[in-house]
Amino acid sequence: MRLSQSFIKTLRSAPKDETARGAQYLSRAGYIYKEIAGVYDYLPFGLRVLDNIKTIVREELNRIGGEECLMSTLQNPEPWIKTDRWDPEKMDIWFRTQLAAGGELGLGPTHEEPFTEMLRNYISSYKDLPVAVYQIQTKFRNELRAKSGIMRGREFLMKDMYTFATNEEEHDKLYEEVKNAYIRIYDRLGIGSDTFVTFASGGVFSKYSHEFQTLCEVGEDNIYYNADKSVVLNEEVLIDEVMNDLGVKREELENTRAAEVGNIFTLGTKFSAPLGLEYTDKNGERKPVLMGCYGIGISRVMGVIAEKMCDDKGLVWPENIAPYKYYLIGLNEEGVKKAEELYHGHEEEVIFDDRDLHAGEKFADAELMGIPYRVVISDKTLADGKAEVTNRQTGETKLVDLAELY
Ligand code: ATP
Ligand code: MG
Repeated sequence: MRLSQSFIKTLRSAPKDETARGAQYLSRAGYIYKEIAGVYDYLPFGLRVLDNIKTIVREELNRIGGEECLMSTLQNPEPWIKTDRWDPEKMDIWFRTQLAAGGELGLGPTHEEPFTEMLRNYISSYKDLPVAVYQIQTKFRNELRAKSGIMRGREFLMKDMYTFATNEEEHDKLYEEVKNAYIRIYDRLGIGSDTFVTFASGGVFSKYSHEFQTLCEVGEDNIYYNADKSVVLNEEVLIDEVMNDLGVKREELENTRAAEVGNIFTLGTKFSAPLGLEYTDKNGERKPVLMGCYGIGISRVMGVIAEKMCDDKGLVWPENIAPYKYYLIGLNEEGVKKAEELYHGHEEEVIFDDRDLHAGEKFADAELMGIPYRVVISDKTLADGKAEVTNRQTGETKLVDLAELY
């Protein structure tokens, strides 16, 4: 991509109510644009980052047999009335709208109901199970407070997966498979070593659920952990009974801030029973399907990575998340000519800063945008047939043969 042809410009300041450092950089570097609190646009670089995150999530979920769908955003109230989640007293984050022809619709805040309702038309026998479906979709939630930039939005991108099984054993197997897929996902996203499988409250059908909590100062959760015993629990389950269960004592647990980047939950028959999703077992008996739900906050993950991977100059994207791998700058006449030549054929992985600006401004933008490698070609480096390649993360600069960069 050629910067001279892009509408993107880096900004000296972020929206004034943006307090988290990563969120400020995302705005200033032109990744996102804030419409109103909790509502953001993703600009070309930001969209590429989101797409890279989505690709990793998709690959790992497809690997375990997940089938991707795209469900509607507009929600028919009926299934939500059946599960008692349409009433704003029960679910206070609904955005709703009136139909011109009369009646009301909601904007999907989550999708247990529509998936369950849809699958009722496809599942009838034990032979049709298990099923694992997911989607990556914009969710709408009328959150009371939207903060830390894209980490808590009123409109945000979520990956939500739902599993459907005949019995507990089958459900538990799926649950473990998703849990392991999540571990691989956060590893590949570069936050694996700071992301902990955390015990959280479970609801009627299982004692616990599991959250994936990433250490992050601007996160909204309080977690308690013991590194030696690899036990992490959410504040909400910090009671004697749970600590006994997990074999830890209060004084062995350290408290820290974290952001919930995902969660996995056993639903049992909570949705299948009221919505009548049943199957016929081997003996011809009708039984309710057992469900699980599994979320990943795609846009929140982007926000968390931005918070964790930045320094006083800007963002520092890991290579597989970065919108582009190289930031190319040509200095002096010869350098610019050579950079032009080098850029040709590499449009998908290179930001070519061919703008009519001082070198210092280009260097500063390369750092603010957090592109993994800055490549500078000048008369001086050309004399030896080389380019200067600087690693954004380590700050190390190496002279590399031009031939290697083609
Ligand atoms: P939280 O406790 O942070 O509100 P939640 O329990 O409401 O999260 P779920 O409804 O299970 O979360 O959503 C699945 C995932 O979507 C969460 O783990 C989180 O990563 C992400 N998420 C939830 N709410 C938001 C939001 N308002 N903005 C961005 N991401 C969100
Ligand atoms: Mg919530």
